[in-house]
Amino acid sequence: MSQNTAIVWFRNDQRLHDHEALSRAIEQADKIIPVYCVDPRHFGETPFGFPKTGPFRAKFLFESLTELRKRLQEKGSDLLILHGKPEEEIADLADRTGAFGVFAYKEVAEEELEVEEALEKMLFESGKVLELFWGATLYHIEDLPMPVGALPDIFTKFRKQVEKFAESREMFPTPGKIVSPELEDWGRIPDPEDLGQEVPEMDERIVWPFTGGEISGITRLQHYFWEEDRLKIYKETRNGLLGADYSSKFSPWLALGNLSPRYIEAEVRKYENLRVSNSSTYWMIFELIWRDYFRFVNRKFGNSIFHRGGIKNAGFRGITNQKLFGAWQEGRTGVPFVDANMRELLLTGFMSNRGRQNVASFLVKDLGLDWRMGAEWFESQLIDYDVSSNWGNWNYVAGIGNDPRENRYFNVMSQSKRYDAKGEYIRTWVEEIATLPADLIHEPWHHAPNRLAAYSVRLGHQYPLPIADFEKKRGKIR
Ligand code: FAD
Repeated sequence: MSQNTAIVWFRNDQRLHDHEALSRAIEQADKIIPVYCVDPRHFGETPFGFPKTGPFRAKFLFESLTELRKRLQEKGSDLLILHGKPEEEIADLADRTGAFGVFAYKEVAEEELEVEEALEKMLFESGKVLELFWGATLYHIEDLPMPVGALPDIFTKFRKQVEKFAESREMFPTPGKIVSPELEDWGRIPDPEDLGQEVPEMDERIVWPFTGGEISGITRLQHYFWEEDRLKIYKETRNGLLGADYSSKFSPWLALGNLSPRYIEAEVRKYENLRVSNSSTYWMIFELIWRDYFRFVNRKFGNSIFHRGGIKNAGFRGITNQKLFGAWQEGRTGVPFVDANMRELLLTGFMSNRGRQNVASFLVKDLGLDWRMGAEWFESQLIDYDVSSNWGNWNYVAGIGNDPRENRYFNVMSQSKRYDAKGEYIRTWVEEIATLPADLIHEPWHHAPNRLAAYSVRLGHQYPLPIADFEKKRGKIR
């Protein structure tokens, strides 16, 4: 095989548009071998014993690979599927095919960095190179107005400097033809079942029929921006809980790199030119900057985002009570707003941002549990799991991250009444109390204790435990 063959190793960048690693490889090589390596470590268990990649995300991932393969085939190429540790399998592939190097995007979290280092070493030993590119963020790391080591610990400071001094780079065009060598077997994309995952029937209450892949992501953007014309009211609707269009739902495609944030930004600019430019169009970019920020935080603080004391290295005390945790995880705490959100996550793999903030705060501040249990459950369950966004947001809500406010507390009762005033969201997910009227549904313990008892967990002599805490806290808050 030609000396002038390069491998493009797809990771969380599963698209053909705006793909620097692919574009650079095409510039430098005559032939390209696109490859994805199914790493068994991604399908192991988290320290608290949850599947590291739960069935919803596994399904989304394999759909995304199927679409990537199809896209590559349309360009005259294919996607090689390997199984095993990428640092071994890809180095071996490079030896077998005589490829001069591997082109890929750089990751930020420790496990992925270790894989990169090991692969680089293996390739180096046989005279080959690993070319890594910075991607995944809207702003390139080298274009930040400060070195990552000096990243401000407060988001607003970061955002203001970035907005003033940084610009996102030009997108890379989608390649035309991609020439690849003949391979005997390109390998089969596994089903979640092959990895011991049982994918539940999708619950019909899911906010959007999420399907992995570049085209599905672009279709969602077309729907949200152009067909439904929702971008112009995004800022007003983004705290919603029910339905397809209160927010963009771009997160699963961003997490796998099916959508490039620069593509979303370009579409926002187009929308601003063709339709309207207002605080909502600005806010979409604002949220993408939050996403960037957590990735840079991860880069700056490394492994400490996973530590009990978080990036503040705080003396955080939380317990690991399995019964309390189980009630939270399954949506049986007896607090309807929390339970509705947790059931949505359990049954669909998605939850709104408002929901995530509340259930996370509830786990940490009301139940007094170790926040890492919650973060790991999210990691396992979320379709849009992104290491930096998830662990960064959990650090934030647990008060050991980048929140400038000391002791921020989400009062879930007032949040429930404010964001689900008519109780429609609760009614959608907590059927046991669905017939209660809006003024009673948020606090059923006063009005329908029997119905509550029918579904929530009894915790020792207190029933249900969180309510006792609420009564105390409500006393203070009112
Ligand atoms: P929109 O409101 O439409 O926002 C557009 C995009 O901006 C999102 O797709 C996302 O990429 C980005 N964004 C918005 N809010 C945030 C935020 N707070 N932090 C980082 N990026 C943001 N997001 C993930 O993508 N993956 C995660 O694993 C994840 N875990 C979270 C855990 C907790 C405890 C909390 C509080 C938030 C978490 N988020 C995570 C952030 C946020 O909840 C989701 O990005 C958002 O709900 C996705 O819905 P959307 O795409 O409709 O968002």
